[in-house]
Amino acid sequence: MSNQTELRCIHCARTYRADAVEYFCPVCGHNNGILDVLYDYDAAKAELTREQLAANPDRSIWRYLPLLPVNDASLLPRLQVGCTPIYDAPRLASELGVARCWVKDEGRNSTASFKDRASAVGVVKALEQKAATIACASTGNAASSLAGFAAAAGIAAVIFVPAHAPPAKVAQLLVYGAQVFSVDGTYDEAWELCMEASAEFGWYNRNCAINPYLVEGKKTVSLELAEQFLALTPGSFADWVVVSVGDGCTIAGLWKGLREMHLLGILPRLPRILGVQAEGCNPFEIAWRGNGELVPCAARTLADSIAVGHPRNFRKGMNAVIESGGAFVSVADEEILASIPLLAQRAGVFGEPAGVAGMAGVRRAVERGLIHRSESVAIVMTGNGLKDIKSAMRSAGEAIPIGPTLEELRRGLHLEPAISTRAVATH
Ligand SMILES: *Cc1c(COP(=O)(O)O)cnc(C)c1O
Ligand SMILES: [Zn+2]
Repeated sequence: MSNQTELRCIHCARTYRADAVEYFCPVCGHNNGILDVLYDYDAAKAELTREQLAANPDRSIWRYLPLLPVNDASLLPRLQVGCTPIYDAPRLASELGVARCWVKDEGRNSTASFKDRASAVGVVKALEQKAATIACASTGNAASSLAGFAAAAGIAAVIFVPAHAPPAKVAQLLVYGAQVFSVDGTYDEAWELCMEASAEFGWYNRNCAINPYLVEGKKTVSLELAEQFLALTPGSFADWVVVSVGDGCTIAGLWKGLREMHLLGILPRLPRILGVQAEGCNPFEIAWRGNGELVPCAARTLADSIAVGHPRNFRKGMNAVIESGGAFVSVADEEILASIPLLAQRAGVFGEPAGVAGMAGVRRAVERGLIHRSESVAIVMTGNGLKDIKSAMRSAGEAIPIGPTLEELRRGLHLEPAISTRAVATH
């Protein structure tokens, strides 16, 4: 049985029993009335100690069940989710101008992105409610992730993607057997359509902002980070945790998980959070530098996973940065592209554009003096590079063409391989 107690509206602070509301606060509506899942932390603390964690053989997010909103553990998906590796990346640290740098590779999840953490929980909640169909709108990863976890659980998935979603992500959806609608419009329009359709047809809605349980899945990245740092640097933690931001659910979950591990005494101190957006789509950064209010904007960036002009979890996302004393920065598409080979060559981790955007943001934050050179950063790399081959190839240049002779190879060896700077210059 779950340690979940109630749901609390982040806008008006009304609390609800879990079975009393569907997704959001009925008084505040879906734009403001995002709910937060509350727990009995005394009970969770008794079940999640360092000793118990060390003795737990489960290598997935389900090792944190005492902090998850799961009522029926028999419904847990069998598909692997979480317990992704974290790497100490000293050559990347010197490149970025920080004292130390770790990269957590979320591309190692079953469907190759961070989104699996949320989808896994979403599918369990759909099964608990005996829903036959689960739906979502997504720029790509939430959809392919939902399709994978729905397939593993044997329930139907209906997906709305904007027409510009990268083909690899759409291919994933179709292969997993989801019913996919390519919406001739933006992600924001696809999102609205999914809301209407879910209400109309009675589908379980996986959209991460309005469904409070999805962020609970996302927070597991921090539960893991806290536990992994116990082994990496006992008694201390990174000064900053860095992640890219679209709707704001990921950064909100990240912060919640850190606070919970701090509350449980497993995380020695709370880090600051750096949220990174694309320059062509940075409503969080604009609000954070300005008066704190959201002004939805057009979404112009090749980092499709963070091309969100109207963030649906704005308040929770802002709170993460404000409460942690952190910052928002944004980076140009050129910097994002250049970061793909940089991360791969300095740390061996291959990311999609939104996946490496966080890393690009570290450099920006150091330049601005937001992150000090004596500080350390943990970067959450959110999605695998194979998700968007077009961007990868644009960033890394081309192979050197030769004939099948040693002579040609000798000639070829003297040619510089086309590297990131050239690819970016031609962008
Ligand atoms: C969804 C996603 C993000 C951003 O998460 P939000 O919850 O939308 O802020 C970042 N990177 C990747 C790869 C994603 O798929
Ligand atoms: Zn409310």
